Amino acid sequence: MIPLIRGIRDIFPPDSDLWRHIKNTAENLFQDFGFSEILIPIMEKTELFKRSIGEQTDIVEKEMYTFTDRDGESTTLRPEATASIVRSYIFHKMYAEDPIRKFYTIGPMFRRERPQKGRYRQFYQIDAEIFGQSSPYADAQLIIMLTILMDRLEVKDTTLHINFLGCFKCRPDFNNSFKKFLIKISDNLCENCKKRAETNPLRVLDCKNESCFQLTAEAPQISEFLCKECKEHFETVCKALKNTNIKFQMNDRLVRGLDYYTKTAFEIQTDALGAQNAVAGGGRYDGLVKLLGGPDMPAVGFAIGFDRLAEIIALNNINYAQKPEIFIAALGKKCIKEAFLWASALNAVRIKTETEFSGKSLKSLMRRACKIGASNVIIIGDQELEKKEAVFRDMNTKEQIGIKLDNPVKNIMEALSKKAL
Ligand SMILES: [Zn+2]
Ligand SMILES: [Zn+2]
Repeated sequence: MIPLIRGIRDIFPPDSDLWRHIKNTAENLFQDFGFSEILIPIMEKTELFKRSIGEQTDIVEKEMYTFTDRDGESTTLRPEATASIVRSYIFHKMYAEDPIRKFYTIGPMFRRERPQKGRYRQFYQIDAEIFGQSSPYADAQLIIMLTILMDRLEVKDTTLHINFLGCFKCRPDFNNSFKKFLIKISDNLCENCKKRAETNPLRVLDCKNESCFQLTAEAPQISEFLCKECKEHFETVCKALKNTNIKFQMNDRLVRGLDYYTKTAFEIQTDALGAQNAVAGGGRYDGLVKLLGGPDMPAVGFAIGFDRLAEIIALNNINYAQKPEIFIAALGKKCIKEAFLWASALNAVRIKTETEFSGKSLKSLMRRACKIGASNVIIIGDQELEKKEAVFRDMNTKEQIGIKLDNPVKNIMEALSKKAL
């Protein structure tokens, strides 16, 4: 037996049934909001992530799966999706034809984090991004879409956290004031934060260390530094959410470390799995398209942690397996041959049908029909074949009727549609 790589797992039934349910629910919703799917590669040039995520981040410094390809090119398994979507938007000059693009993508990402419960080195994300819209309504729309998705998936006990990070005009003032403040307290910060204070100062605000938390309680707040445009943008987002009855909480520790993040930042947190944790996060990143060599183009998006989302929804204990409408219990060689033909014909017209080719006893076949949750069973043995009439049994009501075998597929479909009436 060859075991799995540490921190990497398989998703199989019943989990994969739940995963399909999540994926379908998300995709249907995104399509209704006018988003199109974008399929991006698993591998990219390492430089893309170094530039977009930042060299001084944990992801780039410690967590990326990077290797030198046979032609000497440094290649990385994607640790997140946004960078690739932006790269694609620029590379194909999508902005020239129509700058407004709304994309979603669902798939695996790779980070070499310390494996622990609920955290995987191959993890999955649901991503949605809007390009070419600077309006605050685009931010609000993404948040609303995310909220509806959580409702549809019955994710309970969620809180929406929002912060506002300013723009290229007003944030430098805040940064200066914040850096001055950090110098005053830096001696007492944790080792991580001492380093962050130099490389990525805002991240000190979301340090999980209790003493760092206390030390930064009196830090200057970005809300005091916002320019007029930022204030208006922020108020419009908040009003749009209020008008759609979406509750939110201001959270001034919700920060993004990098300069290209602007204005709205948001997170959906839940304590469904014990400690309060983010299940989704996003915000505006008006500077990234330009940073990666494209035009000056606004953008906003979010990412949902699929693994954690699935873990939360699994608590609802709902079986998402697709159950067959019909199970054909065929007894004996001749009947198996018939059952095989009928099942194929029914499957071809989208009626979920299963059968068994084992030639086992009726009792054992009925047990299997129950196990897979079939709604109806068709019983066919040599006797039925001779009488030219199979038995159609409703597994809920236990009622039985005969199915004439002159045109079995048509007659089975008729029996099903009569039931539906
Ligand atoms: Zn501003
Ligand atoms: Zn700290």
